[in-house]
Amino acid sequence: MALKDEQHPLHILFFPFLAPGHLIPIADMAALFAARGVRCTILTTPVNATVIRSAVDRANDSFRGNNGGQAIDLAVVPFPDVGLPPGSESGTALSSQDDRDKFFLALVRLREPFDRFLSEHHADAVVVDSFFKWGVDAAAEHGVPRLGFLGTSVFARSCTNSMLCNNPLEASPDDPDAIVTLPGLPHRVELRRSQMMDPKKRPDHWELLKGINAADQRSFGELFNSFHELEPDYVEHYRTTLGRRAWLVGPVALANKDAAARGTSELSPDADGYLRWLDAKPDGSVVYVSFGTLSSFSSAEMRELARGLDLSGKNFVWVINGADANASEWMPEGFAEVISPRGERGLTIQGWAPQMLILNHPAVGGFVTHCGWNSTLEAVTAGVPMVTWPRYADQFYNEKLITEVIKVGVGVGSMDFASKLENRRVVIGGEVVAGAIGTVMSAGEEGEAIRKKATKLGVKARGALEKGGSSYDDVGRLMDELMARRSSVNVRQ
Ligand code: UDP
Repeated sequence: MALKDEQHPLHILFFPFLAPGHLIPIADMAALFAARGVRCTILTTPVNATVIRSAVDRANDSFRGNNGGQAIDLAVVPFPDVGLPPGSESGTALSSQDDRDKFFLALVRLREPFDRFLSEHHADAVVVDSFFKWGVDAAAEHGVPRLGFLGTSVFARSCTNSMLCNNPLEASPDDPDAIVTLPGLPHRVELRRSQMMDPKKRPDHWELLKGINAADQRSFGELFNSFHELEPDYVEHYRTTLGRRAWLVGPVALANKDAAARGTSELSPDADGYLRWLDAKPDGSVVYVSFGTLSSFSSAEMRELARGLDLSGKNFVWVINGADANASEWMPEGFAEVISPRGERGLTIQGWAPQMLILNHPAVGGFVTHCGWNSTLEAVTAGVPMVTWPRYADQFYNEKLITEVIKVGVGVGSMDFASKLENRRVVIGGEVVAGAIGTVMSAGEEGEAIRKKATKLGVKARGALEKGGSSYDDVGRLMDELMARRSSVNVRQ
């Protein structure tokens, strides 16, 4: 007997941007929707599929025997031949402007397999990463509602919207230290000119942001890996003042929080050892240091960071990116002893770290972060206070949210908006890094207040996805809307 229309599960197609910081939350988000009975397909290329395959397998295993759950499919399509070396399929693999241009060409060409999928399969909605500029038109041509996802905070999107509508840099003096205010936001948000994306210097980037903002406004709505209690004023601002349809469905990492291999196919065999190392440390005594997947540090910065960790007197776990791994270029005198097994003060990880497991370990009492949104939200969820060290993209906005709005961290005074392909004017000194770590982790009024807020916010974060929580309800509301839309389309046909 054929199933009635309302008995068919919803089917959502996810098409994430090709970088771990987008793939990981999409795989987690698919797990959340699948657990609620939505059929989910994630379309991506071979190398990117390896980043999320273990998370998808794990989610599918957990649904076996759970009647309400649906399986997640990974649909793998070839990466377009644009002249990049084999295996260079990710934002993390780009080391020159030429690579970057080729990569963006590949993003355009990926429309073809996306179109083909929608011609051959029914989908009730597509979640297409906002970096695929063609996503909104392609979805419209197939008559499928498109949900935008950029993987950042509502706060950062509100700041970007204010920038795009007002361009306050135009009226500000051409001085890197000039203070620029973003108009029309619930709080007074001020940055230095040097911390902002300057449209005059980066016209391509500005056009990209404009295109993303316009496409998201033309979409059925936007999904956020965030939760209402974290940024309520900005949710209100986004929905009511800006009139945008947004669903907050995070923290999505909770879907996969216990998975050691989340975000990688090649977890170091030493991963268990990292956790045992942490087991031997007192609660709250370790600072975790990681800057995500797309940032790199100059030798001078690495040296000062190493000095800062040493001077802080705290135990530390420091994840060092491949590009920064040449220790002979930056290691300060005496530091080898600090990180030797005998020193017992510090552990360095070269390769992929099980970040969620580390952040949720009781020994960890602080996180030095670049303020990538996934890392930020993972720290919030774990109740861990942050030392903020933004580099570019949305990270300076996220720093403002952390240090001035939700007040769960302090900054090191990062001044220069610059990607890994660009240079910075200022090298942050080791004393400053040590001071910031001390503030969030040691005794003292400021640190106490920060730690208390971080703990409270962690509880709220975990509650958001429990039955009846704000994000749990947003997932349900979106499913109801998609189901209602399906019924009304079928009635019209
Ligand atoms: N991550 C991880 N282990 C690592 C490096 C990164 O698990 O060694 C994960 C981290 O938990 C987060 C994501 O990779 O989920 C990085 O995303 P984020 O937005 O923080 O930074 P990006 O890499 O996009 O700058």
